[in-house]
Amino acid sequence: MKDFDNKISLPSRFYQYLEKIKESHKLIIKSKDGYHCDSCNSDFKICKQNKRYGETYAKCPVCKKNLVVKSNRKKYYTQDDSFCIIEKFKDHLIFRLFAVKTEYDAPNNYHSEYCEYGRNIYSYESGPLVLVEEVYNDNITATITGKYINYKEIYGSNWKANGSYFYHLGNVSMLYPYNLKKVLKGTKWEYSQIWDFAKHIDYFNISDFLQHKSLEMLIKSKLYNLAYSIINEFDDYLIKLDYKFLHNNLIFVRKNKMDLEEYQLFEKTKIKNIKLIRKYAPDYDNLTQIFFDLKIDLARADNQIKNLKGHIQEYIDYLEICKMLQYDMKDKKILYPEKDIVEEHNRVNSLYEAYKDEVYNNAIKKRAQELKDTIYQSDKFVIFPVKNQRQLINESKQQNNCVKTYAERIANNECDIYFMRSINSKEKSLVTVEVRNNRVVQQRIKNNEDTTNEQKQFLKNWEEKFLKPGLNKGVA
Ligand SMILES: [Zn+2]
Repeated sequence: MKDFDNKISLPSRFYQYLEKIKESHKLIIKSKDGYHCDSCNSDFKICKQNKRYGETYAKCPVCKKNLVVKSNRKKYYTQDDSFCIIEKFKDHLIFRLFAVKTEYDAPNNYHSEYCEYGRNIYSYESGPLVLVEEVYNDNITATITGKYINYKEIYGSNWKANGSYFYHLGNVSMLYPYNLKKVLKGTKWEYSQIWDFAKHIDYFNISDFLQHKSLEMLIKSKLYNLAYSIINEFDDYLIKLDYKFLHNNLIFVRKNKMDLEEYQLFEKTKIKNIKLIRKYAPDYDNLTQIFFDLKIDLARADNQIKNLKGHIQEYIDYLEICKMLQYDMKDKKILYPEKDIVEEHNRVNSLYEAYKDEVYNNAIKKRAQELKDTIYQSDKFVIFPVKNQRQLINESKQQNNCVKTYAERIANNECDIYFMRSINSKEKSLVTVEVRNNRVVQQRIKNNEDTTNEQKQFLKNWEEKFLKPGLNKGVA
């Protein structure tokens, strides 16, 4: 760090850049007479407000800066920002981390300070960016609960390695853009255009950006929001864009400053209607293949289906169910029901439940036929396979167990369910038996309790004599 400090000085536009950040900490003061911009000293009646990072901002109609809005009753307010300057030194990239803090004392009294508090040292020669060391100086107070910037001095020289596993200085900050073209010359980021990106996007994860290969084209095409939302995706390596489609629609995408969700919805639906895209982009992750396979016309769906916004999940479910019910999926009345989608979803869902029950019931009946040779009777007990869905439900009720949920498993040949009963009262449940792979795997009496020795012996005899290989198709 000593070598570095002796050799490297601040980039030429450092103070201009710093002033700009300080200026962005000025407030727009709201009073009963209207607004006052402390940055350009103008008064105005109305301004356009927006929310960012949980704060209310407004765009000053005179100087066009986007500043935090505070009431004139507010006495004291602090803002801080952090930024990073990248330098190249001895085959390493050094990220110099700075912080700027501005304290406001009403009225119109601003005091700012700044400092360099940390450095991240990366090697990059071997290909990817690898963090070699993270160091900080006396501008950081390290406590057991974290690290705090104390603004003790502007430049610290007492550098020490960050030994903490948990508290990193982090890589999300603003990036000083004006030296980058020169610094990155001769590295693999020579054409990355990160300097353009840094001018348009304030906070981002700089090392994540540099790990990316595919952003260059997006930035060259001035699609900064799209690039920004891609580096913010957790599984960004899975994102595949159709670059040909993007290229053909570049003006539309750029003009509307689309982010990733908006673009993906646009790419998949091809709807050139930004209002509609913005309305449904938050639902993009819920759109499964069936939506695209059926070539759903989103404009028509939005127009015809009641309550669609906020209930895309129900709509997708509805389509899946209609398909399972073997409805005509070319019929526009099915695809775009002119009804409340939640009610419509519930309606087809109960139809489907009944349909499923019928399918299961038939499967159970058929299976009982196949198993009729396994029916066995001693002088005390009898055992027989379940004959239909109704019997299964009845057994569940009597035994207080969950056997009725077995219908699907029987229908899928995963297991068989038998009822073992007393000769004297064949209608009354006694033992519920589950068989898989010609073996009794469960034998339960009421309330899932265990069987008596006599009952066990009966089942053992039956298993040996009647459950022959090949008969029971069950799989483990
Ligand atoms: Zn202003």
